[in-house]
Amino acid sequence: MKAKKALVVVDLQNDFCPGGALGVREGDLIIPAVNKYVKLFLNKNLPVFVSRDWHPKTTKHFQESGGPWPPHCIQNTRGAEFHPDFRVPGQAIILSKGINPDMDGYSVFDAQNEQGKFFEDMLDEMGVKELYIGGIATDYCVRMTSLDAINKKFKVHVLVDAIKGVDEEASRRTIDEIVAQKGNLKTYSDVSSELSDGF
Ligand SMILES: [Zn+2]
Repeated sequence: MKAKKALVVVDLQNDFCPGGALGVREGDLIIPAVNKYVKLFLNKNLPVFVSRDWHPKTTKHFQESGGPWPPHCIQNTRGAEFHPDFRVPGQAIILSKGINPDMDGYSVFDAQNEQGKFFEDMLDEMGVKELYIGGIATDYCVRMTSLDAINKKFKVHVLVDAIKGVDEEASRRTIDEIVAQKGNLKTYSDVSSELSDGF
């Protein structure tokens, strides 16, 4: 079976962009790059996964229930919507995480599609072996997703021109950590030439 590649866009939601409840500084600046990657993968008929933080109103993830964060990305609120400039195509597979009020849901591997199917089960069914990961935030959900993927033996490519972190130092450490675990760092030109090699 041919090794299949997929794109994963992590949490490009209003609450994680400037002006949002947990706005990442300049988080919106990666959106044009992300849109380009989405187009590239769709043109090659490769799967595009788009995750979203999708919390209930009350969850242990929020400060008022003893968690680390102010309320954000509450289901069916504007903050939980994808950023309006992020063009989410109809073919994209939307994955929701943080639904369980007892769990944080940092990793996309904790996310499920609308039918309740988990990310990893979908990847197995599709024969996906390589993940190209971009989105927000480098030092949280992109980090956890990438490390989980490496642990689960996927080949991981972090899209360095399509990620943004909360803390610069922590984001640098994250990149070092991913490289130390044999994750790859890629830019758009790397990926577009890889995908046109026809394998
Ligand atoms: Zn969250």
